[in-house]
Formats: sequence, structure tokens, C-alpha cells
Amino acid sequence: MNPQVTLLKKSATLKITALTKKLIREGKDVVNFAAGEPDFDTPDFVKEGGINAINQGFTKYTPSVGYPELRAAIADKLNKVNKLSVSSENIIVTTGAKYAIYVSLLALLDSGDEVIMSSPYWVSYPEMVNLTSGKSVFLQTKESNNFKIDPQTLSETITPRTKVLILNYPNNPTGITYSYNELKEIYNIVKEKNIHVISDEIYETLIYDEREHVSFASFPGADKFTITINGFSKSHSMTGWRIGYLSASEETINEISKIIDHTTSCASSITQRAALAALTNENWQRKIKLEFQKRRDVLYKGLSDCDKLNPIKPEGTFYMFCDIRETGLSSFDFSTKLLEEYLVSCIPASSFGMEGYIRISFSTGLEQISKGLKRIKDFVKSL
Ligand code: PMP
Ligand code: GLU
Repeated sequence: MNPQVTLLKKSATLKITALTKKLIREGKDVVNFAAGEPDFDTPDFVKEGGINAINQGFTKYTPSVGYPELRAAIADKLNKVNKLSVSSENIIVTTGAKYAIYVSLLALLDSGDEVIMSSPYWVSYPEMVNLTSGKSVFLQTKESNNFKIDPQTLSETITPRTKVLILNYPNNPTGITYSYNELKEIYNIVKEKNIHVISDEIYETLIYDEREHVSFASFPGADKFTITINGFSKSHSMTGWRIGYLSASEETINEISKIIDHTTSCASSITQRAALAALTNENWQRKIKLEFQKRRDVLYKGLSDCDKLNPIKPEGTFYMFCDIRETGLSSFDFSTKLLEEYLVSCIPASSFGMEGYIRISFSTGLEQISKGLKRIKDFVKSL
């Protein structure tokens, strides 16, 4: 076996979500606070795009970088909504945003190149870096700084071996996001230090309280050194369709397209037509976002009322990070006991490289949220 693969960890988020779904299928009344996917069905107008593709025989390979109309529609969306200046030639459609991140790392990293990411981090970033010949460097963030990258620390962490900074906002797992001014400070540093940025903006549509999402590549000249990652999994409840995209300089696109040629060939033609349909209607997303915001508020209030728990109010995503240190349990023990004894699943922050917190997903209805809150309160009281 390849030792690089042997050393890889299974994805904790996928593993715990699969276990939760299995327990529910077996008839156990588990409250699913682990889910890393929206609970809503894919909207009908998107499904129809896929169904029409099948009926019209749009079932063959597309160009490896994606079908032209979809690339054009994505470029158009990025220009209008995200204030980028890109054309179809800057877009590659991928089999999920996860694969977009992986091929970006593969294309950019040479042996020993360092990739800086904030910690807590989404589980897959370091493992993807491990699959390449790169090396992860973690920028530990603190609750007192709202889990944000400190520009000074970032500047000091960059070495001659640093090749890439991964940004992810709204952030999984902390739920925080960055303002224009905060991003500008990071932009000034990376521009001066001449490194690449992979900006994972997959939760951009789930941002609350009238905050605005600012795309990193919209800063002057940043499109030359930034790969913007996005997709349809979170925005249109399309996790199982496996569709995402990246936007990058044409030079980077040429390199990445070779990897796609020899690995997946292209994203599913049917899914690509569904994604094209997804881009035609923004109303659905607005409705979903308001629903998530309502759930966030109920969950936040409930956890704040709970002794020994200190939740962080998310500015985006459907994840609430919650400080459990006063319970005296490790995040793994807390989440294992909560699942085994009180039938509530969540993700221990140790999977994200940090102790003392858990991630609670509010991608489940208000009734389940109330039920889960009651169980969490009973559990914490029992400690
Ligand atoms: N980035 C982050 C931060 C995520 O949480 C996810 C989870 N699905 C992804 C990327 C990948 O999404 P997908 O491959 O489903 O498009
Ligand atoms: N990204 C989601 C999560 O963090 C889905 C699972 C995964 O791809 O990791 O839970």
C-alpha cells in the first residue's frame, strides 16, 4: 500500500453523518446535529434541468472543463454577484467543490511546499494536502479573536516555502465570516508575499443578518493568484449530485484541465444541466437562508440558556460552534456520550484540529432542534 494513503484519516464528518443516517434507518430516534448538508430536497426547477438532460439525450462526455453554457453562466454569476472579472475560459466545472480543491492543490504544490490554513479547519484540507507532496501549516485561531486569522501572525507564518493560503468563509466549522476590511488586510499580505490563495466560498449564500459576502478574487489583481472555489451542494441542496466549480487564471486552468482529463474526464453531463437550471433562480436560495437564520436563532438561544455551554453565534453556514470546556469532557467523549446515551449526534471539534468545542449543525427542522436542545440540556445536567 501507498504509505501516503495508509496514513490518511477517514473523514470524521462523513463518518459520523453516515452513522447517524444508519441509526435513523434502523428506527433509532436520533436527532441529527452532525449533518454537513442542507436537509431540504433539491428544488424542482433544478431537478427538471437534470430530467430534461436525460430525456434529451444529454448523456455523453462534455468537454473536460465543463459544458460551455454552464461555464458561461458561472462566469456571469461570478461577475455579477461576486464582482469578479472572469470569462468562461477561467472556469472549470468539477465533480463537487471537494474535487475542485484537490485538483487546485495538486496543480499548485511541489514537494515540500507549505499550505497555510486557519485552525480549526475543515477536515478535508490537511488530508488533501497530505495526498499531494505538500505540508500543512496551521494558523491557530482563538475565540477571543472570533476564530479569525490574525494578519500579523499570518505575515510571520509565511516562509519562502509557503505556496498557498487556504481561506474558507463563511467558515466550516466556526460559522464566522470575514468583512471587506478584514479580507483587505489579508490581501495586502499575500500580494506582497507573492503566494497563491485558494478561497473556498461554498457557504457564500448562507450568510446572515444582512452581512455581505465579499469574494477574495474581487480585490484588484487578486484573480491572478486566487483560485475561487464554489459549488451547488450547499446553495441548492445538491450534495449527492456532485457538482462544483473553480475560477482561476487561464494558466492555472490549463494545468488543472490536464488533471481533469486524466482523472474524472468531466463532471456528469446530467448534473451540469441541473446546475445550469440552478443558476436561473435566486428566490429559492433567499427563502432557504431565512429558514436557516430562524433555526440558528432558536438553537443559539437554547444553547445559551444551557449551563456549562457557550455557543458562538454563526454569521454564516449552518454550523454552530459551541464551547463545552466547562463540562470537563473532551469533545470526543462529549459527542460520543451524547450520541450513545441521549441520541443526539454532533461533530467533536478535535476532528477540526481543536479541543473544547463541538460543531452542531442546524440543518434540521425546528421540531428536531427543540428535541435536540432538550436532550442536550438533560445530558449536561446529568454530568
Ligand atoms: N468546502 C467546505 C468548507 C465544505 O464544508 C464542503 C462540504 N461539503 C466542501 C468544500 C465540499 O463540498 P462538495 O464537494 O459537496 O461540493
Ligand atoms: N462538508 C460537510 C461537513 O463538513 C459534508 C461532509 C464532508 O464532505 O466533509 O460536514
